[in-house]
Amino acid sequence: MNVGVLSFQGGVIEHLNQIKRLGHIGVEVKREKDLGIIDAIILPGGESTTIGRLLRVTKLIEPLKEKIRKGLPTWGTCAGMILLANEIEDEESKYLELMNIKVRRNAFGTQKDSFRTHRIVNEISEEKLELVFIRAPYISEIKGNAKILCKLDDKIVAAKQDNIMATSFHPELTDDLRFLNYFLKGNWMKNK
Ligand code: GLN
Repeated sequence: MNVGVLSFQGGVIEHLNQIKRLGHIGVEVKREKDLGIIDAIILPGGESTTIGRLLRVTKLIEPLKEKIRKGLPTWGTCAGMILLANEIEDEESKYLELMNIKVRRNAFGTQKDSFRTHRIVNEISEEKLELVFIRAPYISEIKGNAKILCKLDDKIVAAKQDNIMATSFHPELTDDLRFLNYFLKGNWMKNK
């Protein structure tokens, strides 16, 4: 598979490395023509305001939105989740507006409050997975056909909707390929 990673800013390399380790081809996505050759896309972590601004400046925002609407399997990690949200708490900004979720940015505190924890994500494995949170958002409201994939205490930290998946945490910063494998296998899109 050709797996795109939106490559303006943030944790691009880590995703490309995991894609390669799973035996797929990673494609850096920076302009419209890159969209033509990909079978899935990852929107990485980073700074959502910066990535969002670059999406607009480069005019990639509309073609990317269109491609995702037409069914391109899409996974947003952290800032990527913010880009996908229909609503961002206390902010006017919105970017791709493709998921029925409201997100709260930097919801676990500042950079120094970043943390790792372990949780079972039922759809992926019966064993606990390592979850890495870096100035992460969480989902404060979920509506319509968006479904919860994982909660941390009472906070929603992973969700899916049709062909789109979003996680507050960063599986690409662990050695574990199970999350990426789950995304690329695509069964999660069928059992809605
Ligand atoms: N705090 C960042 C933002 O709001 C997200 C952090 C991350 O992607 N690791 O955009």
